[in-house]
Amino acid sequence: MNEMTQRIEAQMKALNLKAMIERYKEFGEMAAERKLCYEEYLALLLEEELRGKTERSVMAKIHKARFPFVKTIEEFDFTFQPGLSEKELLRLCSLDFIEKRDNIIFLGPPGVGKTHLAIGFGVKACKCKYRVLFISTQKLLEDLMLSVRDGSITQKLLAYSRINLLIIDELDYMPITKEQANLLFQLISMRYEKGSIILTTNYNFEDWGRVFQDNVVAAAIIDRLVHHAKIFYINGESYRLRNKLKGTN
Ligand code: ADP
Ligand code: MG
Repeated sequence: MNEMTQRIEAQMKALNLKAMIERYKEFGEMAAERKLCYEEYLALLLEEELRGKTERSVMAKIHKARFPFVKTIEEFDFTFQPGLSEKELLRLCSLDFIEKRDNIIFLGPPGVGKTHLAIGFGVKACKCKYRVLFISTQKLLEDLMLSVRDGSITQKLLAYSRINLLIIDELDYMPITKEQANLLFQLISMRYEKGSIILTTNYNFEDWGRVFQDNVVAAAIIDRLVHHAKIFYINGESYRLRNKLKGTN
């Protein structure tokens, strides 16, 4: 390594230009071969750096969102759920529902792809630089209860309200105490018209009073959640089961 390349690399390193450091020599040879001018060479290098930086920032957002698995909407087989409106769902891919702070609710039995679709929107939101968090209902309630005990509930609710898209997964077969229902209500009230929620559940709204052991709290949660929400009822067959029956899973 000569003195000049040493200097270049040290400076690129100090400026954290990861992609440039990796490729400036290769691009330099290519530029010489194709007789590119200095500006063209610089433009190519900068494009590469920007591409790398964007990719790393999206990966960091996906990591921070804590998805249990990464799936995209494009991977979803709509022919398997003919009852689900592909058109309506794809319309939401513009993500203007996040700009409008609207919610999405996926309601249906296990295995129909509720979590897959929720993650699909979450991944899209990460790519558009939104702050996203995926959390199961159980984990969320545990987290809120812990914060009540250690006196940090206000900060905790504030932290949850700063997220652009909060995915609350699996409001399913779990007993919910009145205190937990109240905390969930506080969280949903705090986010109301401030940030989007995607909720997945297999409970119909008429069951929520029983689930939350309190008809008034259940009605208040539904009211805020559903006011600006797109609701998708997915009542088809379980995709998991289909794979099992075919012996391919
Ligand atoms: P749910 O949350 O409704 O229980 P999941 O979203 O966890 O169901 O789906 C179960 C598995 O089946 C996941 O691996 C998911 O990617 C896959 N899956 C479900 N429905 C579809 C579909 N229509 N097309 C492709 N994969 C699907
Ligand atoms: Mg699920």
